[in-house]
Amino acid sequence: MATVSLRNIKKTYSNGFKAIHNLNLEIEDGEMIVLVGPSGCGKSTSLRMVAGLEATSEGDLYIGDKRVNDLEPSERDIAMVFQNYALYPHMSVARNMGYGLKNQGLPRDEIRRKVEKAARVLEIEHLLDNKPKQLSGGQRQRVAMGRAIVRNPKVFLFDEPLSNLDAKLRVQMRIEIKRLQQEFATTAIYVTHDQVEAMTLADRLVVMNGGKVEQVGPPLDLYEKPETQFVAGFLGSPGMNFMPARIQGQALLVQGDHRIDLPDMAELAQWDGRDITFGVRPEHLEACSEAEADFHLKVDIIEPLGADTLLYGHLPGSDSLMIAEQPGKRRYTRGDVVPLRVDRERLHLFDAETEQRLN
Ligand code: ATP
Repeated sequence: MATVSLRNIKKTYSNGFKAIHNLNLEIEDGEMIVLVGPSGCGKSTSLRMVAGLEATSEGDLYIGDKRVNDLEPSERDIAMVFQNYALYPHMSVARNMGYGLKNQGLPRDEIRRKVEKAARVLEIEHLLDNKPKQLSGGQRQRVAMGRAIVRNPKVFLFDEPLSNLDAKLRVQMRIEIKRLQQEFATTAIYVTHDQVEAMTLADRLVVMNGGKVEQVGPPLDLYEKPETQFVAGFLGSPGMNFMPARIQGQALLVQGDHRIDLPDMAELAQWDGRDITFGVRPEHLEACSEAEADFHLKVDIIEPLGADTLLYGHLPGSDSLMIAEQPGKRRYTRGDVVPLRVDRERLHLFDAETEQRLN
């Protein structure tokens, strides 16, 4: 069993920079946690503290029921997969994969058996005698994974392992990592700034911003009910549309004069007079008849993606950008004015000042 607990973890670098403010996270046995957020938010720092590559400034770090703050990386029973693979160039694939086991003093036969087994799982058996430079990027990544797997660690730590691969290979390896993690049911912490990777891999997502956790939860929960405007804007591609709004009776007045009637939202009255940010995802703006329209989008740019078409434009009389995602089968031309209706079940309201979710 390998739970991982981060309790009141803080990190201040020697130059005085506070990289992590107060991180609390309980990771379950076999769970895949993904830390995601923009560059500099503290994802790698957090992972490196779990690995023991960076000391914590405050707080307690547990793997299972053992406090590991003062243990060396090699004593923590973790295996880390990096973006640059960190393979030894002069060693064969087999020796690269078995290196950690050799250091642990395991007999040669046993190392060979474990390496071959992992190579079979990763479908790189035919490459065992090759040197890293004879491998493609994807194959090197598999070797790096193999080296982690053979050690049968309590926890896998992944630091942007796919960021050096091309787009197609990334998707392939992403699925592979998910398959392996499910098969081995090993607790894993995965760091990425790619929100698609984060959404697809995570059992639970941890969205970080400026050294703090914004929200933790299953990916779809965060997508559907982001607690802050930051999480709402970070997850989803293209991103959520945001517009200033106010309440008037049972309606929202968006950007001054676009009226969205919300008769079913009883809580509306309590925010009367407050500055609100209204948010709606591009896929929750549906083309509709004139009579049903909440907005009219004047289309500037059309991106046909096949299954869907993205319409980029602005509301007449406003210069703020709005994006709507429509089914791909309908054709649009530049300059079209498209009547759009907001899906009432999927709209988001945030306090304009605190950026916290209201509804
Ligand atoms: P990225 O996606 O760019 O790797 P990240 O979220 O992983 O970003 P970290 O590498 O954890 O971010 O860095 C968090 C913050 O701490 C950044 O502002 C970074 O500049 C700072 N930082 C990282 N290492 C050090 C260090 N050794 N000394 C001082 N500041 C550091």
